Amino acid sequence: MISEHEARAIGERLAGTRDAIADAARRAGRAAEDVSLVAISKFHPAGAVRAAYDAGQRQFGENYIQEALAKQDELTDLDISWHFTGKLQSNKAKFVPCRFDLIHTLESPKLAQALHKRLCAVAAPRQRVLLEVNLAGEEQKAGVMPEALPALAEAVLGYDSLELAGLMLLPPFDLTPEQRRPLFAELRRQRDALETRLNMTLPVLSMGMTDDFPQAIMEGATIVRVGTRIFGPRPIKQ
Ligand SMILES: *Cc1c(COP(=O)(O)O)cnc(C)c1O
Repeated sequence: MISEHEARAIGERLAGTRDAIADAARRAGRAAEDVSLVAISKFHPAGAVRAAYDAGQRQFGENYIQEALAKQDELTDLDISWHFTGKLQSNKAKFVPCRFDLIHTLESPKLAQALHKRLCAVAAPRQRVLLEVNLAGEEQKAGVMPEALPALAEAVLGYDSLELAGLMLLPPFDLTPEQRRPLFAELRRQRDALETRLNMTLPVLSMGMTDDFPQAIMEGATIVRVGTRIFGPRPIKQ
């Protein structure tokens, strides 16, 4: 449980975040509705999710599969759209189907295959996925390198259980928001090039977090993933 005081603070920070998103969209000449907010609730208790839900938030993102499933099971009375935003491991793929409306972090053909094998025949016919792209080179381990992106996209399109919706970026933490902006622009260019190559639309660009969502929105983000600004600092994981 969280205190009434903390629940109110979450509601206020959420409202402030929504205003800031609308503001950034306006400055970018975009409609506020074109940017959706996924509240990243990792390490925060189910009570914090419920407080944000009560304040109108419907999309939540989790990074750790066990933690996500536990929270989902605690909140079955809420109509939440869950996203998976953490590192996806093949050996955890069996837990994923039917649990998340969007997986942001597909990064290899091997993972695509692991997901496909576990496909959910019951609920949605296809699992929506984003490809996480590594635009920072060696500094960063997660994500597919741009050279390998077309092949990964084609592998995903080969599985009728998966629906390719767009791209995701997690920039290096040691860059300032302004230094990240060229990477946001580059993700968009990668998306545009992939659309041309595959002759299909890839509507989703998942980029931007607490410190840099205004810059990401300027460069075309359609989903921003915000944790700290809504829920406060994350407790240290035990
Ligand atoms: C934790 C996390 C976020 C949220 O980060 P904040 O800086 O707390 O907003 C967004 N995206 C991913 C992939 C994350 O792991």
